[in-house]
Amino acid sequence: MGQSHPEPIHCRLMQKYSASSILRHALSHHRKWPPLWRNPEPKPSYDVVIIGGGGHGLATAYFLASKYGLRNVAVLEKGWLGGGNSGRNTQATRSNYFYPTSTRFYDYSLRLYETLGRDLNFNVMLSQRGVVSLVSNPHELELTRRWANAIYLNGVDAQMLSVAEIKRLMPRLNFQGRLPIIGGFIQKRGGISRHDAVNWGFARAASALGVDIIQNCEVKAFEMNGNRVVGVSTTRGSIGAERFAMAVAGHSSELARLAGFRLPITSMALSWSSAGAPMFTTPIRSAAAWRTPRRCSRHCSSYFRVSAGCG
Ligand SMILES: Cc1cc2nc3c(=O)[nH]c(=O)nc-3n(C[C@H](O)[C@H](O)[C@H](O)COP(=O)(O)OP(=O)(O)OC[C@H]3O[C@@H](n4cnc5c(N)ncnc54)[C@H](O)[C@@H]3O)c2cc1C
Repeated sequence: MGQSHPEPIHCRLMQKYSASSILRHALSHHRKWPPLWRNPEPKPSYDVVIIGGGGHGLATAYFLASKYGLRNVAVLEKGWLGGGNSGRNTQATRSNYFYPTSTRFYDYSLRLYETLGRDLNFNVMLSQRGVVSLVSNPHELELTRRWANAIYLNGVDAQMLSVAEIKRLMPRLNFQGRLPIIGGFIQKRGGISRHDAVNWGFARAASALGVDIIQNCEVKAFEMNGNRVVGVSTTRGSIGAERFAMAVAGHSSELARLAGFRLPITSMALSWSSAGAPMFTTPIRSAAAWRTPRRCSRHCSSYFRVSAGCG
């Protein structure tokens, strides 16, 4: 995996955000800011079509354009940008994963986040206030020590916390609830980033580089030439491309079925709430909760994790 970050974008199409542009636009009561991205009609064909306008689809488009010079690219989104998982997640941004490969992968991603605001000239509101994982029984404490040590040995910051230290960090937590808190660990470089801003920042930068962002454009079927996908039928007409990418999260198995192949995953409905999140100053999670099976949603656009590990 390369370490280089994409070149910052300098494009006439993109309004530069700076203190002076904010002051200038104040004179017109901020009514003259240009739209963040263009709203083009779909072209008959592209070099690359990306299905799904969430974080992954938009980031793929941005990096194809900024890093690999591919500009004849479209992102097709059936609803609005970030209307899936990417605009409704808990916003935790972290790399505290157990397995070495996961640690490296997520830490690379976290490092991209650390410069993302500058690279996109868009405030993604990354706040590295730490991510805390809580523990409620001695067995879990032992596993968590192993987890934190593994992360640390893999070169990522991780630090065990005593109950007193957790109380100092989050005085509003109930330590004597059904699952009493007996310890935890923190990744201090972890934190939160504003999910809408991440989507909009990528969309704005990709659009400025020539990527067509096409909303309200649902892929309904694939057009095949033998075994090869050559086009998609959408609610906005037929669109051809040399290459297609699918970034549709919980809809992946469904879309793969439309394209004629089977993925080893199944999409299922789940409702999920992060309503309590604003109560706390730091993203927290319980190691116990994480080890409970979760399911995936195609309707609520949740994601799934059914595993017994902490990686
Ligand atoms: C409640 C919740 C909390 C989460 N918390 C965190 C967290 O704290 N930290 C973290 O890192 N991750 C978190 N995640 C996971 C994270 O949000 C997802 O992994 C990520 O947003 C997935 O991005 P994506 O672009 O792959 O999918 P999505 O954002 O779901 O985008 C897929 C897009 O594809 C579109 N689409 C589907 N079918 C079609 C079609 N046929 N044609 C055109 N478009 C289509 C959908 O409308 C959707 O907009 C959370 C997820 C949820 C649901």
